Amino acid sequence: MYQFLALLSLFLISLVVFIFGLIIGSFLNCVIYRLEINKSFLKGRSFCPDCQHTLNWQDLFPVFSFIILKGRCRYCQKKISWQYPLVEIATGLLFLLIFNFQLPIFNYFIVPFFIAIFVYDLKHYIIPDKIVYPAVIIMLIFNLQFLISKQFSIFNSLILSAVGAAAFFLAIVLISRGKWMGVGDIKLAFLMGLVLGYPNILVSLFLAFLTGAIIGIGLIAFNKKTLKSAVPFGPFLVIGALVAMFFGGMIADWYFNFFI
Ligand SMILES: [Zn+2]
Repeated sequence: MYQFLALLSLFLISLVVFIFGLIIGSFLNCVIYRLEINKSFLKGRSFCPDCQHTLNWQDLFPVFSFIILKGRCRYCQKKISWQYPLVEIATGLLFLLIFNFQLPIFNYFIVPFFIAIFVYDLKHYIIPDKIVYPAVIIMLIFNLQFLISKQFSIFNSLILSAVGAAAFFLAIVLISRGKWMGVGDIKLAFLMGLVLGYPNILVSLFLAFLTGAIIGIGLIAFNKKTLKSAVPFGPFLVIGALVAMFFGGMIADWYFNFFI
């Protein structure tokens, strides 16, 4: 009986964490949209991007409203972008993973920023300062705890990872004169260093270049892109950062055991 209750409570807590993620994801969609149209996201009610009709409370449930409305606006019947349910589900699942892996609290704060950067860079080929700067400030504040508790090696690892990763991307930007990477990638790399530290930053960058190369070759093979066309690198950096957040330790151990 005790075991059953323990399992039941674990299930209920997981469900709450997942739903909380869905709600944060829904807010993220709103933030992304308002950044796109350059509107403050702190005030005003949600509305349909097509017919501008103010949304009802029934329209605001993450994922469920999308399913009930069959992916169309209640008022103008225009299709709602798949971005909305996908961002909500991704945020929910990542929150569930953070909970399951028992990662530190700061991960719940930083994952939504990573998702917003992923979506925005994928759609508009730019990483907005309004997303990346607040994330950097939040991480600097969280990392101060290591300075206060005199864990200098952890603090130094985080700061050096950030500066090192940013310098690496700055070099790429300078060498390619901004053709291969943008200034936004430098800022994102700095943020990743603050989140991941060493050696996870190396794992994340390795994964970013690996997935970027695979997807790039795939796009060229299927004639979607040529060698000269621009593909944003931010989404690959975010994928690398997220995988390293959860599996970085495992991947680094595996690597060092096999090759060193
Ligand atoms: Zn509408």
